[in-house]
Amino acid sequence: MDTFLFDSIIVGPIHSRRLGTSLGVNLLTPNSKLCNFNCIYCECGWNGAHGKGGFNPYEKVVSALETKLKAMADESQLPDVITFAGNGEPTMHPDFDRIVDATLNLRNRYASDTKVAVLSNATMIDREAVRTALLRVDRNILKFDSAIDATMRLINQPRNARTVAEIIELLQAFQGCLVVQTLFLRGDYGGHRIDNTTPEEVEAYVEAIRQIHPSEVMLYTIDRNTPADGLEKVPYEEMEAVATRIRALDMDIITSVAK
Ligand code: SF4
Repeated sequence: MDTFLFDSIIVGPIHSRRLGTSLGVNLLTPNSKLCNFNCIYCECGWNGAHGKGGFNPYEKVVSALETKLKAMADESQLPDVITFAGNGEPTMHPDFDRIVDATLNLRNRYASDTKVAVLSNATMIDREAVRTALLRVDRNILKFDSAIDATMRLINQPRNARTVAEIIELLQAFQGCLVVQTLFLRGDYGGHRIDNTTPEEVEAYVEAIRQIHPSEVMLYTIDRNTPADGLEKVPYEEMEAVATRIRALDMDIITSVAK
């Protein structure tokens, strides 16, 4: 299926179903993808399908963001949020922490009401520079798609060997300063039936959320084309049932389901 790659450093603003009016910052090379996951639902397609990817240099990113923010401020059209997302995993950028700091400075200068968000797969949070940079942004949104190792490996196809238990421990180190984002899906891929909505999955998932204790949980399902064929959306009502289980933990976790 046709997937989608960003062709620039600054993207949008676009309306995001999860974040509002969002100005995207793509730290990865235009029209290529670089990630240490290879999620079967990735909107950017498979790793390697469009070159081997790379990083946009610090100076180019900061300059492009300043130009765009200044123009938006001049027109009184500032975004709700500046979002690090794009053609792969932003925290893999070697200057990620410096870019976050420059972005916060630009936000303070041109758009003081705008939030800064990072969408990350959480693979680099064992690095102190990445972890502390994520603690400085307003919305530290980290992917967690299954609390069962085999399912997580089938969905995310990570390059590392980290277990779910290790991921939970790293997420706990944020002490609640994180948003957990989970994509629910089901389907057949590579000879396996994949479904992160079974009773066993949901039981393990809710227990993981209890242990991680994020400030917020965002649940969603497939919205665009996926590189793997045969994946199915999960009905809203089923995701809402998971959200109800999380709310029943009574831990002040804001829980939302994207329609
Ligand atoms: S972590 Fe994000 S960019 Fe990387 S493969 Fe998964 S969906 Fe794609």
